[in-house]
Amino acid sequence: MVGTGRTAALNAAALDAALRYAHRHRARFLDDVVALASIPSVSSRPEHRADMGRAARWLARRLRRAGLNGVHVVATGGHPVVTAGWGTRAELPTLLIYGHYDVQPAEPLSSWTSPPFRPARRGGLIVGRGVSDDKGQLLAHVAAVESWLLTSGRLPVNVRLVFDGEEEIGSPHLPAFLDRYWSRLQPDAVVISDTRMRDADTPALTISLRGSLNLELVVTGPAAPVHSGTYGGALAEPARELCRIIAGLHGSDGTPIPHLRLGTSTAPAAARRAATRSGPSDVELLTLARAPRPGRGTVEPGWSAHERTTVRPACVVTGLYAGDAGPGHHAVPGSATARLNLRLAPGQDPSVVEAALWRYLRATARAGVRVALRRLSSAPPVELPASGPVVEAARAACCRGFGREPVLLRSGGTIPVVSELAGRRELPTVLMGFALPDDRMHAPDERLSISSFTRGTRTAVAFLHELGDRVPGCADPWRCPGSALGRRGR
Ligand SMILES: [Zn+2]
Repeated sequence: MVGTGRTAALNAAALDAALRYAHRHRARFLDDVVALASIPSVSSRPEHRADMGRAARWLARRLRRAGLNGVHVVATGGHPVVTAGWGTRAELPTLLIYGHYDVQPAEPLSSWTSPPFRPARRGGLIVGRGVSDDKGQLLAHVAAVESWLLTSGRLPVNVRLVFDGEEEIGSPHLPAFLDRYWSRLQPDAVVISDTRMRDADTPALTISLRGSLNLELVVTGPAAPVHSGTYGGALAEPARELCRIIAGLHGSDGTPIPHLRLGTSTAPAAARRAATRSGPSDVELLTLARAPRPGRGTVEPGWSAHERTTVRPACVVTGLYAGDAGPGHHAVPGSATARLNLRLAPGQDPSVVEAALWRYLRATARAGVRVALRRLSSAPPVELPASGPVVEAARAACCRGFGREPVLLRSGGTIPVVSELAGRRELPTVLMGFALPDDRMHAPDERLSISSFTRGTRTAVAFLHELGDRVPGCADPWRCPGSALGRRGR
């Protein structure tokens, strides 16, 4: 605990004031989510370039209103990063709050029950692209910072906010941004809210993420499409060869080929039981996906659905394209393309898996077609510590925000920056997500639970307090619990 009883009482009063402020202003904080989600900041589509700039400027204005300093829209080689900060007191820890303001494309639009970029309130939900991933979660932290700054005029920690405009395309320019501005950031800890809770009432801290390797596989044959009557049957067809190659990526029992499993290991039985207890059941997971039960040979046997999506690799075909000239066009396509999204299990290395896959493709390709593999983006898997002062601060904050201890969950998703911050820079990082499992991230009718957002904001307010509380001002760096935050590799 911090210093004297008097300081502790002052701190508790300041927290109370911030929590009351957050409660009073909750409707306006929700309006912010609606406003930001109304801007179609789809990072992967060139036609939304101007919208990306619009969203970044909106966010910058919002950060200034929250009382933050040093608000900048920083140009990168791609979409801008929005940054802000508060505080330079050496005796306080510096917290980096990361979020992303870009969103997934909304297509297919016909599957939405309301326009994706006209967020609609429906009962206890807001429906719109990006409301949950990640605009609502990012704004919960902005609301929390404002709740402190506009009540007691200070924060219990120094903060640096970094809002990425390229998370959904693999954050290609973020490492360079971090390198360039690292001396101004110098964080001791990182918090990211871009993950899920266990269920509507149970908060969760995510302790592992799968890696991701996005590839484009192109099979080419004739130099251009040719008449299927004149040539059909006489030459190797790119579309058929592509399908054969893709079919060969899994064994007949549904297990990915060994090339795709390089680097994986089987967890001890106790860890598997624990994961099964804290994660969703097979039925729960499939119900959320609104998918029928997978038949024999369609998924890797011997693992639960939760394990398959968190500690096992997956090779997902996310796109398949050939012969796009329409149904009346009878021609052998000149090429066929597949988009592969490999989700990598803890322990796997994206470049090792990519090289192995390439070896497999070269060995499998038949004469008459050419095979090319192009890497679109990649991020290694990450495992985070399940204890330490930052995790303890997050636990205590969740108890205050949700009235319940968080569970520790593994996630099948990927957040590229986590490997950069928690991996390469070894910063204690906590993934404290406020999204619900049925928020339909990346899918039509994405939604944000208003109650999760409000309780998430409370949790974010409390987290700043709890983190500051665990690091008293201390002249001796060896005895200061601040060094226990794991300030390594600076
Ligand atoms: Zn996200």
